[in-house]
Amino acid sequence: MTGVLLSWIETVAAVYAILVAAYAVTCLIVMRLNRQIAAAKIQARQTPRQQIRRDQRQSLLSLLAIATMFGTGHWLYAELGWGWRPAGGLAGSVLAFIGSLILFDTWFYWFHRLIHTPALYPRVHRWHHLTVTPVAWSNNSDRLVDNLFLQSYWLVAHFLVPAAPLVLLAHKLYDQVTGIIGHGGWEHGGAWCRPPSPLVSVTHHDQHHRYFRCNYATHFTVWDRLMGTLHPEHDAEAKRNIAATAKARQGERVAAE
Ligand SMILES: [Zn+2]
Ligand SMILES: [Zn+2]
Repeated sequence: MTGVLLSWIETVAAVYAILVAAYAVTCLIVMRLNRQIAAAKIQARQTPRQQIRRDQRQSLLSLLAIATMFGTGHWLYAELGWGWRPAGGLAGSVLAFIGSLILFDTWFYWFHRLIHTPALYPRVHRWHHLTVTPVAWSNNSDRLVDNLFLQSYWLVAHFLVPAAPLVLLAHKLYDQVTGIIGHGGWEHGGAWCRPPSPLVSVTHHDQHHRYFRCNYATHFTVWDRLMGTLHPEHDAEAKRNIAATAKARQGERVAAE
């Protein structure tokens, strides 16, 4: 019994260490990249320093909740043999990765809409929206119960997708890194997320924090387009912000020469 408990604690601790490291390193890199394109900041408002500290503190707790769910899911798969076994080979891994992206985006979109309803919003999701001008550190600043809605995917992912553990970890890291960039306050997208590309830009989630009742998805703009929840100015603003970043990069290059 002690051995079983110990292996579960070790798994959760390892996932927590990976997530905290990814959080800290990505935030520092994004802030450095932001400074190089300072003129292209999306919102004019500055984020109060105590709000950033609040988000940093809460993120460490929130990442522990995510690590507990992800780690438990992995532990059930690896120690008890629960969940779907993956198809072998590179093609199987690529398909599982794409399948997991689509499934998680669907999970996130619908649960995110649910926690924006008046019955749930005040107790579940309001905390995350108290930061109207998000910064990279805001990505994981959520209440515990918010994570139970949006991040519990990682607890059950092995029962939904026949994916190898490394494939799910790669997806979680993709989600972590793109989430941090998405809260960073500067558009970093290029051709890959310029509308009509289905991939979200920074503008997509920045608008969610500014306008509140739009842009609920996390990886793709597809659900928002299908359900009519994409902000009417989304495509035009994303293109403007992408162009502003390109111009700021050009200006930096000229200044450096
Ligand atoms: Zn929200
Ligand atoms: Zn957010």
